[in-house]
Amino acid sequence: MNESNFLAKHLPHTKSKALFERAQLHIPGGVNSPVRAFKSVGGTPIFIKKAKGAYLYDEDGNSYIEYINSWGPMILGHAYQPVVDAIRAKAEDSTSFGAPTELEIQMAELIKKMAPNIDLIRMVNSGTEACMSAVRLARGYTNRNKIIKFEGCYHGHADAFLVKAGSGVATLNIQSVPGVQAHVAQDTLTCAYNDIEGVKNLIASNPNEIAAIIIEPVAGNMGCILPLPGFLKSLRELCTQQGIVLIFDEVMTGFRLARGGAQELYSIDADLITFGKIIGGGLPVGAFGGKRAIMENIAPLGSVYQAGTLSGNPIAMTAGYTLLKELEDNPIIYSELEAKTKTLCDGIQAALKKKGIAHRINQLGSMMSVHFGSHEINNFEDAKTCDNNLFNKFFHHMLSNGVYLPPSAFESWFVSNALSQADIQKTIEVTASFNP
Ligand SMILES: *Cc1c(COP(=O)(O)O)cnc(C)c1O
Repeated sequence: MNESNFLAKHLPHTKSKALFERAQLHIPGGVNSPVRAFKSVGGTPIFIKKAKGAYLYDEDGNSYIEYINSWGPMILGHAYQPVVDAIRAKAEDSTSFGAPTELEIQMAELIKKMAPNIDLIRMVNSGTEACMSAVRLARGYTNRNKIIKFEGCYHGHADAFLVKAGSGVATLNIQSVPGVQAHVAQDTLTCAYNDIEGVKNLIASNPNEIAAIIIEPVAGNMGCILPLPGFLKSLRELCTQQGIVLIFDEVMTGFRLARGGAQELYSIDADLITFGKIIGGGLPVGAFGGKRAIMENIAPLGSVYQAGTLSGNPIAMTAGYTLLKELEDNPIIYSELEAKTKTLCDGIQAALKKKGIAHRINQLGSMMSVHFGSHEINNFEDAKTCDNNLFNKFFHHMLSNGVYLPPSAFESWFVSNALSQADIQKTIEVTASFNP
């Protein structure tokens, strides 16, 4: 990338527009996942041609500094050479067998080395599958039906989770999802994030009925929201007292906030942990794991059934293993990411303050988001009451100046370690030129 011509011009999205027209003829809404649709920010999604390091290149010849990074996996930047090389080499040995491989053991061993409280781990193909399977397992293990989730948290699109969900469900303002049967939704109890009294009340009014509490230990699907001091610890204590399985959904936070994810950062032991995103290095991978006493109820050890034709796929395992190994071998990456993200947040904060634009930045490690409001953002209600029209203007200002943000105020930004100080300064400069 030639730094000097970066942002020098911005070409109209002519090709993207034509592709979007064509896509809509064949694909619902023109996209294979609703969060890509630009529906809340307006305009046409840009069609991507390729990406390398911190930059994205669209079909019209524009380049962008990247803050989505495939919604997380590209923590070391796009087309990271060791991952590309490993995939290329592995493909020669066939892309799938439907029989076990040594690579799957290596993957499990590496994950156990990096993340706490994993006695056994099962690979799946997405974060949705991981969370769905973890909840089924918790139900089978406890012989209870109900679960507690938090408003604005997203755990994938399985039926049980589409109740007051974050991410695209929040972005599209979908109140209740047709197709999710009432009796299924009724078993999902919800409570405001960070509201420990609310959790206690739900447990008290449903004695011996709660199989699991599932939580994003740092929420990233209603923008970035941090757990208040003591909240996760209180959840842990409640679960232990009540025989409830505590599921940390670390699909976003796993291998991002620290090698051992939020569990390591907050020194909280979860019973089951789900992974996705980074774990696949950009290929479709998820995993769920945890305490042996619970995990040994999964088939073929136990009778809680869960399976997958492509689970543990060699190409996906190679990509994931190679990326995780880089993170395992180079712990300095986490302090570099933290420092870069802090510089970015400080710069954006100063730029917006100078303009007198009320805002809140929540940040932890390489997760961050900018909410336009003057109140603290500690739960979904706080996030919803921000000026999200202003976010939409901000999004388009950034996009047309070569900075690619998530197209929703309800999504976290993902910082990659491929970002240079110059990229960060450019992002801050573009922010400083925002005139709402
Ligand atoms: C992305 C995400 C999921 C869903 O993962 P998919 O791979 O999209 O199915 C689940 N939980 C959290 C916290 C996520 O961020």
